[in-house]
Amino acid sequence: MQPLTLYVLDLSRPAGDDPDAVITRREVTDAVLRTDDLGVTRGDGIFETILVHHGLPQAMDPHLDRFARSAAMMDLPVPERELWRRAVEVTAAEMAPHAPFAAVKFVMTRGVETEEIPTGFAYGFVPDDPTRARLDGIDVVLLDRGYRHDVSETSPWLLQGAKTLAYAINKAALREAARRGAHDVIFVSSDGYVLEGPNSTLIARIDSTYVTIPTSLGVLPGTTQGDVFAALDLVGAQTRVGELFPADLSRADAMWLCSSTRGAAPVRSLDGTPVAVDHDVTAMMNDALGARER
Ligand code: PLP
Repeated sequence: MQPLTLYVLDLSRPAGDDPDAVITRREVTDAVLRTDDLGVTRGDGIFETILVHHGLPQAMDPHLDRFARSAAMMDLPVPERELWRRAVEVTAAEMAPHAPFAAVKFVMTRGVETEEIPTGFAYGFVPDDPTRARLDGIDVVLLDRGYRHDVSETSPWLLQGAKTLAYAINKAALREAARRGAHDVIFVSSDGYVLEGPNSTLIARIDSTYVTIPTSLGVLPGTTQGDVFAALDLVGAQTRVGELFPADLSRADAMWLCSSTRGAAPVRSLDGTPVAVDHDVTAMMNDALGARER
C-alpha cells in the first residue's frame, strides 16, 4: 500500500482557472511536510480515498462533496473544487500502468500553526485486492462507538461524520475486531443505534428492502453505498435510508460493508452468528461499481 506517485498542492494562493500552476509532482520519498504540520501533530485535517479504474477516478463528485463537507465541519478553508479535481485526476492517471484498480488518497491539513495555510497533497497507491472478501465474505463484530446517536447535533465539535485524519480510533477498532477473530466492525451508538464501519457503510437487507443508515446519526455519506443504491434502483430493488438496531440486524437476510477500495463486501457472520452471503447480488453490486465510468 505504499505510495507510488505524489503531487503537492500550493494552497497559499487561489489557483483560479490554472490549477496546474499550483500542483507539483514530487517523488514519494521527498519530504513534503514540516515536522510541526498540524495534520501530523494533531491529526487536524481531512482526507478522501478514491478508487481509480484504468487511471480514471470513480465517484469523483461525491468524494469532492464529502471533502468540502468535512472541511466545513472542521472550519477549514473551502477546498477549491476544480483544483482538487485536477490534482486527483493527474495522480490517478499516473496509476494506470500500475494496476487496473488503484486508489488516490487526497489530504488537506490545517498546515503549520502560525501560518494558517493548509497543506495539500494527493498520492496514488495500489490497495489490497478485494477479491477474497467479496467472494468469501467477512466476519464482523459489533462495537460500541461510545457516543449517543444524536452526538452530531448535541456535540458537533466531536466531528462525527467528518472524514478527519484522526483515524487512530478507527484502526484501534479494527485491531479489536482482529483480536476477536473478525475482519471488520459495525459501530453501535452508546444508546443502541447501528452506525457504520470504521471505514465502510452498512447496507442490510431486511424484508426485501436494502437499508442504510442516515447521516444525521453522525455517519459519513458513503460514496460506494450511494452507487450501490443507484444500481439497486436500476434493477427495481427497494432501498431505504433509516435507523436500525442490532435486533434488526439479527433478522437481516444479507448485509454488506461498502467502501471505495473494497467495494461491497458481504458479511458472513455477525458476532459469531452466521449470515447468509448472497453471491448473486454481491456480484451485481460489484459489477455495477466496476462498470462505472466516473
Ligand atoms: N464510513 C467511514 C467512517 C469511512 O471512513 C468510509 C470510507 O473510508 C466510509 C464510511 C465509506 O465511504 P466510501 O464508500 O466513500 O469509501
